Amino acid sequence: MTGTVLTEPLLALRDLAAEWATGLRVAGAVLDRDPEAVAQFADLPAVRCMAQLLVPGEYGSEGINVAGRRFHGMTALERTVLLEEFARGDAGATLAAPGASMSGVLLDVLGDDEQKAWFYGRLVDRPTWTFFALTEPDAGSDANALTTSLTPGPDGDFVLNGRKRYVGNASRAGMGVVFARTAPGPLGVRAVLVDTASPGFHAEPLGMLGLRGARFCALEFDNLRIPANRVLGRHLSPARRGMWAATLTFNRLRPGVAAIAIGIARAAHEYVRAEGGLLTGGAAAEWDQLGYRIESVRNLVHLAAMEVDADGSRGGHLASSAKAEASRLAEDATRAACRFFGPSARWTHPLLDKLVRDARGVEFMEGAANIQKLIVFTGLLAGKVGQGESFPALNALSGTGGLPCG
Ligand SMILES: Cc1cc2nc3c(=O)[nH]c(=O)nc-3n(C[C@H](O)[C@H](O)[C@H](O)COP(=O)(O)OP(=O)(O)OC[C@H]3O[C@@H](n4cnc5c(N)ncnc54)[C@H](O)[C@@H]3O)c2cc1C
Repeated sequence: MTGTVLTEPLLALRDLAAEWATGLRVAGAVLDRDPEAVAQFADLPAVRCMAQLLVPGEYGSEGINVAGRRFHGMTALERTVLLEEFARGDAGATLAAPGASMSGVLLDVLGDDEQKAWFYGRLVDRPTWTFFALTEPDAGSDANALTTSLTPGPDGDFVLNGRKRYVGNASRAGMGVVFARTAPGPLGVRAVLVDTASPGFHAEPLGMLGLRGARFCALEFDNLRIPANRVLGRHLSPARRGMWAATLTFNRLRPGVAAIAIGIARAAHEYVRAEGGLLTGGAAAEWDQLGYRIESVRNLVHLAAMEVDADGSRGGHLASSAKAEASRLAEDATRAACRFFGPSARWTHPLLDKLVRDARGVEFMEGAANIQKLIVFTGLLAGKVGQGESFPALNALSGTGGLPCG
């Protein structure tokens, strides 16, 4: 049984993305060896597409015009469609592209008009990398424990001090967002816009095994001055400015990360079909089964995206479930693909080696599987995850026979 929640325009977007993904595989291999080579891939269609995503049309972004619709990547469902296809080409090269990326989702949640004009204006002006800095060396999964400080400066501005870690694209970024603490407790967390040209900003690339193109960095802020108008959420109530906004942002982003995992799983699945000779008997059955699983998890991811698009604050449980399922799928698929080629597969099939490493990286992005499971079970214990009534998008589909989800 097959099915999809994607409408005709989204199916057309998917087909276009599949076409645009051409060239990412080669770029990914080059960036895996040398992440600094990123500029030479600026004209790939997928890279140009990523550079425009998450910039609303009213700020001057052309978006993607297909099947009579214009897409700006403002919904999670659009992003899952694009990211799966691009990651099937190469996840590392996709994440290495300039664009609003994670910061764009946060700006959409927390930015006021002036902040959006500044942020989107720079992105429309020229392809610009951005970064999103939440994780700290001593506070990874437990983001509430972050210690980077935002203190009042002498002239009404603020001063940022602290360290972050594993921050994608930070050493090549023109701007980004940093989460910092103004006071103890969850209400004491704020996000600020940072211009990387400001004195006191330091980014040091880290040696990574997976998704190497995206140049993950350790950051240090040394008395970095933050103008008062770069503190996000000024126009919102204190409860909506800090960790609430981070949670909402992660809910909206997780289906996209899950889609990247599916793209990696598909790349491994297709590689065995292309290079593994004629599959027969148990091997053929195993590979067919993996194909069904990919479809099934994709449907879960699309549903999760629809839920967060309908209401980002209540859709988090399904998004976490989708992210956990998809990252496990990517790891299972890439390792299973290696088994087809024997014990030295990762040596003799460099693409498979890269896919295994990239899949491992996705497991940690936006929260490892244990954290996703904690979110799901916390929702279950709180009665927020039930038998469908918690998920309006699922209800809307029930009875239509349109979606296999198992
Ligand atoms: C490829 C990649 C991209 C990233 N991009 C960014 C980025 O752009 N910006 C950013 O800010 N961060 C980024 N990160 C950081 C990422 O969010 C963290 O790695 C992640 O939150 C886990 O934190 P940690 O690495 O400190 O691991 P830890 O928090 O130390 O966790 C290690 C292990 O312990 C488990 N664990 C931790 N706490 C619990 C618990 N309470 N119960 C059960 N198990 C637990 C985890 O599941 C994990 O398996 C990225 C990481 C990677 C690998």
